Amino acid sequence: MKNVAVIPGDGIGPEVIGATLDVLEKVAPKAFTFNEVAMGGNAIDKYGEPLPAESLKICQDADATLLGAVGGPKWDNQPPENRPERGLLGVRKGLKVFANIRPAKIFAPLASACPLRKDIADKGIDFVIIRELTGGIYFGNHEAFTTPNGERAARDVMEYSEHEVRRIAHVAFKAAMGRRKIVTSIDKANILTTSRFWREIVEDVAKEYPEVKLNHLYVDNASMQLIRVPSEFDVIVTENTFGDILSDEASQIVGSIGMIPSASLGDNNRGLYEPIHGSAPDIAGQDKANPIGTILAGAMMLRYSFAMNAEADRIERAVDGVLNDGLRTGDIYTGTEKLVTGSQMRDAIIARL
Ligand code: NAD
Repeated sequence: MKNVAVIPGDGIGPEVIGATLDVLEKVAPKAFTFNEVAMGGNAIDKYGEPLPAESLKICQDADATLLGAVGGPKWDNQPPENRPERGLLGVRKGLKVFANIRPAKIFAPLASACPLRKDIADKGIDFVIIRELTGGIYFGNHEAFTTPNGERAARDVMEYSEHEVRRIAHVAFKAAMGRRKIVTSIDKANILTTSRFWREIVEDVAKEYPEVKLNHLYVDNASMQLIRVPSEFDVIVTENTFGDILSDEASQIVGSIGMIPSASLGDNNRGLYEPIHGSAPDIAGQDKANPIGTILAGAMMLRYSFAMNAEADRIERAVDGVLNDGLRTGDIYTGTEKLVTGSQMRDAIIARL
């Protein structure tokens, strides 16, 4: 029995998580114990804090953690240290996951949802973004202060240590070895000292993977090339903030933010699995949320944490199948296919299994 901690979260989180647990139960009956955990806005309401110690402990003791999404306008006025997103950062830190893996792959039936020119999309889009997750400016010192001349000011510190860069570079090169063997490291080395340091360490790690071709791009150029020639990317590795931004750009290239899963891995197999979207308060409670991103995150969990590759393949094929059948939630609907609710999408995927 695999022990999975489940964080439904806020907004559409419980909807997409519910669908995913149903799919997992269908593909591997009685293989999992699901332990539901409070985190995010709901935990603030119930316990006064976004990540109660008990919640983190359950995740740390589990074989893997599955997360929906947290946050929403209700908690926007919380002090910074008590915002739902702090819970998210706390879980990532507490689970010691440092590598976030986000595939960006165009599903053939959704090619028409790609906003890029047809000749660009037709070349195929299939890359992964490997984002450093527990370092950089998001985890540096944050402070608001008053300057000696009495003006208000703020600063956030960007910092990377050698082991942080080295271990994420290894994740990227290993991933590339199982793919097209191209790593593109993205930085801002023309301006930032942390980026020049990042580049130096990545080049050093590259020596251990002579079969892999390493390119470097500045982040501003990378954001253009992802639109111009996405087919040329295989594995992208980058620091926390750049990865945060570029992966949302990538999600639009391949269709909807609702379609993309992610895995966050540490040194062992205990990962954190979640869709890349947020809690989508604008559609919460309306059965409009696309559950596919979270369902595919469940498939990544089977693959990376439990080596259940056959079951993961079945889920991915079922998703392909329903898309081929023309089923679309609102976010991927272009006007001609069959518009379905989130729960109809879930039921169709389960039926295919
Ligand atoms: P969002 O991803 O929640 O929503 C952006 C847009 O995409 C919205 O129009 C939404 O309706 C749509 N969308 C997102 N997921 C969808 C799905 N599965 N199906 C259909 N449509 C979908 O981003 P946001 O609006 O910037 O943030 C809303 C809240 O979520 C904020 O409180 C933010 O802090 C939080 N957030 C949480 C996470 C997380 O938990 N990992 C990530 C990002 C944002």
